[in-house]
Amino acid sequence: MRILVTNDDGIHSPGLWALEEIAKALSDDVWVVAPETDQSGASHSLTVNDPLRLRRVAERHYAVRGTPTDCVIMGLRQILDTPPDLVLSGINRGHNLADDLTYSGTVAGAMEGTILGVRSIAFSQSYNHAKGTEPRYETSVAHGPGLVRKVLGMDLPADVLVNINVPDAGPDEIAGVQVTTQGRRDQAMLSVDERHDGRGNPYYWIGFQRRPFQPGDGTDLAAIRDGFISVTPLRLDLTAHRVLDDMKRALGGL
Ligand code: MN
Repeated sequence: MRILVTNDDGIHSPGLWALEEIAKALSDDVWVVAPETDQSGASHSLTVNDPLRLRRVAERHYAVRGTPTDCVIMGLRQILDTPPDLVLSGINRGHNLADDLTYSGTVAGAMEGTILGVRSIAFSQSYNHAKGTEPRYETSVAHGPGLVRKVLGMDLPADVLVNINVPDAGPDEIAGVQVTTQGRRDQAMLSVDERHDGRGNPYYWIGFQRRPFQPGDGTDLAAIRDGFISVTPLRLDLTAHRVLDDMKRALGGL
């Protein structure tokens, strides 16, 4: 089995090394293609107005001066002679839950793999950066290979990718595994922080505000809150199917 590993935190991220460890527990044909720099928040962006630089870092390890999406495309269309059987994206430094998915470069790496016809899984390791502690990637590494094997044993539709989040806990402290839905935070968490440079001109940082809220039952948010590994099947089709009939009726006169 050939595995392509990518991420959005960049080629130097310890989370990438951890995911490579998971991949190597499953196969000895593991390739890493990751962004040169941190692309967190890059979502599913594609570099079309600039050339892509490709740097061979080591045997089977490449850095691309681009986004996770660029990396997957370079991996499949340029670097590998035969396509991988699996794309793994992560392990992200921090969870990707609920609305995070629309910003996540980690999830986008798995989306791109899915679009290109390869089974793809996104991995994220929750951690509490307010505490100043590092993500406990060893928890993902301990549970990752078993989870990936089980997902690969399923007959999943071609347009489905899998989003795995691991709670901030030690390997032996995991409550279990829950299959979840993508949750929704009950408030927008993003804020803008205005600061001033040495000449008094304003500049801005987009930041996250963390307020307590009640996640919906069965969601990725609730699973991580309760100490479970969250596994969410996602699909590329963004159509709001339950609205189709209403919309046809509403626009029927056009
Ligand atoms: Mn990231």
